[in-house]
Amino acid sequence: MEVFKMAARAAKSGDTVVAIPAPAGTLYVGEGYCTIMAGPCAVESREDYLQVAVQLKAMGVHILRGGLFKPRTSPYSFQGLGREGLTIMNEARDLTGLPLVSEIMDVRDLDYMWERVDILQVGSRNMQNFTLLEELGKLRKPILLKRGLAATIEEWLLAAEYILKGGNPNVILCERGIRTFETYTRNTVDIGAVALIKILSHLPIIVDPSHATGKWQMVTPVAKAAIAAGADGIMVEVHPEPARALSDGAQSLTPPNMERLMEQIVKLAHVENKIVQ
Ligand code: PEP
Ligand code: MN
Repeated sequence: MEVFKMAARAAKSGDTVVAIPAPAGTLYVGEGYCTIMAGPCAVESREDYLQVAVQLKAMGVHILRGGLFKPRTSPYSFQGLGREGLTIMNEARDLTGLPLVSEIMDVRDLDYMWERVDILQVGSRNMQNFTLLEELGKLRKPILLKRGLAATIEEWLLAAEYILKGGNPNVILCERGIRTFETYTRNTVDIGAVALIKILSHLPIIVDPSHATGKWQMVTPVAKAAIAAGADGIMVEVHPEPARALSDGAQSLTPPNMERLMEQIVKLAHVENKIVQ
C-alpha cells in the first residue's frame, strides 16, 4: 500500500472530478476535458486586469488566474496588491462570469479569501506548509496544489494527503517544473510526472508551462506536451504588455500569443466550454 492512502489510485474507483462553482453554472476539472486557466502573474491594475479578463473569456479560457500575494524571492520586489487586488478580480468575475484562482500564502487571509476566490492555490513554496494544508482540509473549496520546487512526487502526494485527510476531496495537482542543474530554463518541466500521477493517483493534474520554463517562447510547446501526456488542463500567464509586467514578464504570453496557443490546444483536446447549469 502507498504511503499516501487517500490520494492513491486504489483508494477509490474512477478519477476525482473537481466541481468549480462558476457564476454561470458549474465547471468540472478532470472529466476528460482540458481546463484552461490564464491571467497575469499578479493583478497590477484594474484597467489591465479587466481588459485581459475580457480578452481571455472571448478566447474560451475557463478560469481566470491572478496573484494577489506574491511569494517573491526578494523582499524588495513587487509583493502584490493584496486585498485591493481581490476587489479587482471579483469585478472581473462579475464581468466575465468566469471563476477565479488565486494563491493563498497565509492562513490569516483565509477568512476573506475563501468566499471571494473559487479555487485557492497553494504555491510551490508553500507545498509543505502543513498548517496551511490542514486549514484547507477543513474547507470544501477546490484547492490547486502546486508541486514544490524540489519536491518528489511522493512528497507532493503526501501534501495532497493533508488536505484530503482533513475532509476536503477537491484537490487539483499542478506540475510547475522542478529545480535541476539546468540553467537555461527557470525550472525543468517534469512531463513524466503527469503520466506518473495518472498511475499513482485519482486526482486531476494540470501543468503550468509558464513557471515550468520561464520563457514565453516555450509556453505553447510545453502546454501541448502536457496535454499529450494526459494533463487535465493548463495554467498560463498572460499579460497585456509583458515588457512592463511587475513580475514574470519573460514567461508571460501576450493576448495574441495566448490566442494562438488556444488554436493549437483545440486541435489536441476537448476544450469546449463545459459549464453546466
Ligand atoms: C504562481 O502561479 O503565481 C506562482 C507563484 O507559481 P509557483 O508557486 O509555481 O512558483
Ligand atoms: Mn508568476
